[in-house]
Amino acid sequence: MATIMAMPKGLESLEGYFVERPEPLLTNKTIQVILIREVLDYLILRTEETRELNTVFTWRSQDDDTIVERVAFLATKQKGAESRELGALLRTLNQRDGRPDDSCYLKDRLCVRCPRCILFGATSTERGREARQPNIRHRVAYSTAFSLDPFEEVAETTTFNGVSEATTLTGQTLNVRNSVRPATLFPSIVTLQSVTWKEFVLTLKTIGKTKRYGAETRIGGEVRNNLFGIVAGWEEVITPLEYTLALAKEALAEEGKMPTVEITGQILEQYRGLASMKDKVKVLTTEELQSLSEGVQGFEMPKEFVEAAYEDARDFREFQSSRAREETTRQAR
Ligand SMILES: [Zn+2]
Repeated sequence: MATIMAMPKGLESLEGYFVERPEPLLTNKTIQVILIREVLDYLILRTEETRELNTVFTWRSQDDDTIVERVAFLATKQKGAESRELGALLRTLNQRDGRPDDSCYLKDRLCVRCPRCILFGATSTERGREARQPNIRHRVAYSTAFSLDPFEEVAETTTFNGVSEATTLTGQTLNVRNSVRPATLFPSIVTLQSVTWKEFVLTLKTIGKTKRYGAETRIGGEVRNNLFGIVAGWEEVITPLEYTLALAKEALAEEGKMPTVEITGQILEQYRGLASMKDKVKVLTTEELQSLSEGVQGFEMPKEFVEAAYEDARDFREFQSSRAREETTRQAR
């Protein structure tokens, strides 16, 4: 029997938006974590095949439909880095607590039974006695983030030529590196659906500690993820593009105006007005956000907490597998 653990201080403001235990069948309970991802070193955001940055054309702002080009921070890039970081966090906690590790790693050796797999989703490669084991659907969703400022203001091309270490002679070929310059901001949203408070804490801890994104992270790619807001509801209330365009409107109205927690709160309130189940939407106030952020930061993730998260994951998998067995038996009849 799992011990009843107290939530970190500040999480009570999200009461009613957590589920008791993770289950394969989802509820509408949704929590959106609103972030400003702040680039701190040259960041290379490109897909492997090209040397170009990923860009996209969007409106300039919420009330200006001029088309501008923005750098796109693809959802897969954010998700990949953070999923790996959650894996590393769990491994570290397991070492601390002397818990055997399932050696779960991306992308072809996911264990399908740990807190990371049941939250981020996993494709099962194992085979049961009667049937193929079910896959796990993700309950954390990422979306593409767009640079707050247009492409020409944030992109930088550096040319360099390799220097031979032996001869110190500069090579003949000129290499080009396209990157996003430091101080670029990417308003971004991570959406959690049907999660427990423990999963929420693990997610915030992970987002907070993840510092490297993009290609070639050995030479840069540092990013700080700043928590700017939280909105909960029975649906997704806002998308990153909407948030970006609303922030751009503020910045254009008042030159150089930077995003703040207060402005973010106002934007979230504005989007509450568009929700299908408006009365279910809760925008955390600045004080609530502050208290939650401190509570999570100060939470040390004791052994019982990690134990309970693993127990939830095991129960989730057992429930899912027994359902799959039932279905296979029914179909066989
Ligand atoms: Zn796993």
